[in-house]
Amino acid sequence: MTTSEERQVERLRPTPMLITAVAVLVVSIGVFAANFATQRSPVVWGWMPAMLGTAIAGWACWRTAFAPGLDLVTRRVWRSLAVVCVLIVLGLTGDARFTVLNPGRLDQQHDIPTSICYALAMLVLLWALLRLPMAKRESRDRIMVRFLLDAATISITVGIFAWYFVLQVANAWEADGSAAVPVIMLMSLGLVGSLAFVKVALSGFGGVDRIALRLLAAAAAVGAVGGGLFPLLFDLHPGLSGSQMFVPATLLFVAFAADRQRRAAGVPQPERRRRPFSVVPYLAVAATDALLLTVSSQAGSAVLTVAMAAVLLTALVVLRQVNALSENGRLLGRVDANLVELNGYQRRLTHRATHDALTDLANRSLFEQRTRAALAETEAGAADTLSLALIDLDDFKAINDRLGHAVGDALLVVVAQRLREAVREDDVVARLGGDEFGLLLRGLRLAEATEVLDRIAESLTRPVHALGYDLLVKASIGLAEVWPEASPQELLRRADLAMYAAKERGKGRHAVYDARLEQDQAADAQLGAELRQALDNGDFTLVYQPIVSLPDGEWTSLETLIRWKHAERGFIGPDVFIPIAERTGLIVPLGDWILRTALRQAAEWQDVFGSGAPGEIGVNVSARQLREPGFAADVRAALADSGFDPEKLVVEVTETAVFDGGVALDTLQSLVTLGVKVALDDFGTGHSSLGLLRTCPADTLKVDKSFVDGIGGRSEEAVIATAMIQITNGLHLQAIAEGVETAEQAETLYRLGYRFAQGYHFSRPLSPQQVTEHLEAARVLTV
Ligand code: C2E
Ligand code: CA
Ligand code: CA
Repeated sequence: MTTSEERQVERLRPTPMLITAVAVLVVSIGVFAANFATQRSPVVWGWMPAMLGTAIAGWACWRTAFAPGLDLVTRRVWRSLAVVCVLIVLGLTGDARFTVLNPGRLDQQHDIPTSICYALAMLVLLWALLRLPMAKRESRDRIMVRFLLDAATISITVGIFAWYFVLQVANAWEADGSAAVPVIMLMSLGLVGSLAFVKVALSGFGGVDRIALRLLAAAAAVGAVGGGLFPLLFDLHPGLSGSQMFVPATLLFVAFAADRQRRAAGVPQPERRRRPFSVVPYLAVAATDALLLTVSSQAGSAVLTVAMAAVLLTALVVLRQVNALSENGRLLGRVDANLVELNGYQRRLTHRATHDALTDLANRSLFEQRTRAALAETEAGAADTLSLALIDLDDFKAINDRLGHAVGDALLVVVAQRLREAVREDDVVARLGGDEFGLLLRGLRLAEATEVLDRIAESLTRPVHALGYDLLVKASIGLAEVWPEASPQELLRRADLAMYAAKERGKGRHAVYDARLEQDQAADAQLGAELRQALDNGDFTLVYQPIVSLPDGEWTSLETLIRWKHAERGFIGPDVFIPIAERTGLIVPLGDWILRTALRQAAEWQDVFGSGAPGEIGVNVSARQLREPGFAADVRAALADSGFDPEKLVVEVTETAVFDGGVALDTLQSLVTLGVKVALDDFGTGHSSLGLLRTCPADTLKVDKSFVDGIGGRSEEAVIATAMIQITNGLHLQAIAEGVETAEQAETLYRLGYRFAQGYHFSRPLSPQQVTEHLEAARVLTV
């Protein structure tokens, strides 16, 4: 059974059962009317419709008790009602038998078993009604007080009516010894009716359908009025009973109620608008007032006048009270509405405070909160493992700077979505800021957690479509696993460390935290401090690796590469310390030293060897240097100081450095204005976009070693190497194949169209001394 809010209780449908119940009532009225003056039909006929109507109602209640979608309490109510019906059928059978056996029977006269049946029926009914759940809005005590007050009000009213009518018509029964029976019946009917009524007025309804309950209350009212008052109003001849007509009438309402409940089963009840006051006492007051007026009218005009004044006064007091109560109700209603609105605001505020506005992922504060909670769980032994991953998009800044923030944002949204899809429903995914995401994986072993990371990497291989751009993104991911006594901050720090390790190993990778990373980091920090020292001490040297022409292998230019001769650790490669120098900013003074030293050296070779000197000198410049505001001016100054021809200086920059756009590109442009040439280094490994070749003023592409390595086979790299030479030719750029290690590679490259190469096959990087020697030897040769 669905419980969607849109579902409505289907309209009342005239089922065969309901039609039969109505027909039974009509027949009973017919029989009653026919026999009203004198008994025309056999007396037992009068009881048949009542029995049939009750049986139908009983059957309807029983069926409803087993309808799907009802809660236990509601089932219990309907089961009890079915039992009540069975007891009434038994009572009616007893009545019919008694009437047939005692032709002079007066209405409301029963034998003992019949009375027991009716009494039991009432007890069961009372019990069922009293077990209905009360409204939960107020405290139990207050509800109880109200219930008792209302019940007392009704009981007094019913009591006074009963007393009055009994006084009026008591003579009718005086001849008979059983005068007490109808009075007790009347009182108990009144009591049941009033309790039912009050209970319905106060009931929280629970699963019992509201309309069904109202129909039941109507049944109670019809039963109480009909069964109790009717015999007092009409002096019926023996054999005829008001019950013959009022029982089917009462039970018709019960049948309708049961039918309604069955159709409403499983349909959520709309929130009820509560009346701010109970109508029960007012109805009681009105009824008693009516009685008072009736009685006083017989007692003379003085009493009647006073009574009328009293009635009028009560009416005015009631009006005043109702007025105040409804005003209160209105105010309360407004407060309620305001509260609902406030709650909504509060919910939205909390959501906003804990979620990222762009991606709607959890934000850093919620992430930390969840991490803390998950850690507490693992500590308490509720979960055994926990791992935290930090995901950082590679080169996101470049995309943002180059294509604008709107594209960057769109990219982040897609990435967030892919992250969500790559993990389980209850894993926490958060955006921690910028292009950094966090992932909390519970209950996964290391192998399973890294599988998730692979899945994420895999999901990011699909190009991201962002505002018309198809972007390729990669992410560096660091993973840290929980350990005893882990704190959220420490877990995050470890994941962060692992993420930096992943970035250092190359983009688009993941790394898992282990203690060695700490040592590496400590060593890094140590190196960072020592770099400065090394620069002051003159521990750096430059080596030069020739770039040659194909196929002859003649030197055409030199690339400057830095070396660090560490006092204890021997030679440290630039792959190790350049990233540190970049992070610490030391690359700026270091780069300046490299440039000036290389230019001085090149100028010297130029002086000594003239045209025999290498045509150009390449200097690697890092992204950080290009972003340094005065960089172009520094180069100009260095060129001026060395007296070296700007046109023979080649600045080697990586694609990624210029993909950043902005300042870096402006700097390159200024350098080009000076006459300096630009080479795109490691081409093919970064953002390789042909668009870049249009905006970046490059003269040369240095095709990365990875493509050269694959050149012999049929691999993708070979295809790319082939495509790249075609592109460079098409764009009138020079291509240099990097990292050529074998003669075969050199030959293949030549065949593909490459005319320049660099690599160990031709020469390793050489000291200035070695370069000088080579140049001298060459001069000797040419002379
Ligand atoms: P890069 O600019 O791509 O330099 C080429 C690197 O490949 C050099 O490593 C070179 O020794 C190596 N190499 C050349 N031919 C071969 C070969 O046939 N096989 C192999 N396996 N390797 C070959 P190195 O000197 O260790 O430099 C590594 C990277 O460090 C450079 O890559 C560059 O990105 C950076 N770097 C080096 N010197 C400087 C510098 O003065 N300034 C800056 N900013 N970065 C530098
Ligand atoms: Ca280079
Ligand atoms: Ca390179």
